[in-house]
Amino acid sequence: MPNREFHMTLGAVTGSLFFAVEELLSQINNEEHKDDNKFNISWESLIFKAILGVFLGSIGGILPDLLEPARDPNHRSFFHSWLLLLSMLLVIAFKISKKSTLKGFLSHLFLPFTAGYSSHLLADMTTAKGLPAIK
Ligand SMILES: [Zn+2]
Repeated sequence: MPNREFHMTLGAVTGSLFFAVEELLSQINNEEHKDDNKFNISWESLIFKAILGVFLGSIGGILPDLLEPARDPNHRSFFHSWLLLLSMLLVIAFKISKKSTLKGFLSHLFLPFTAGYSSHLLADMTTAKGLPAIK
């Protein structure tokens, strides 16, 4: 069974990766720079987002076991469920799609957190116990 350090590390990596993907997609979809084919990425912004992605992804990565502590082999319930995982993956797909109307600072915080949380469930899915469908 993956332990807290594993989930925290995986969440940190996933959270910062998704922040980087979101930054790249926003640059690609930026109408102002459509014609010059140049990315307008500031290093300060990228480093800030990477740190924020590590932080939020780590929290998302350990949250399922904080909500449902691993005190026994049957601790996994709704917060470890397929239903929640699929819902989060749908939200991530929607958020990184061009159709997303979620804008603003809070929506940027949501993606790395959700990615970290999903990484926890994906890691737990690989164990013999797996994930419950709903609870
Ligand atoms: Zn877990």
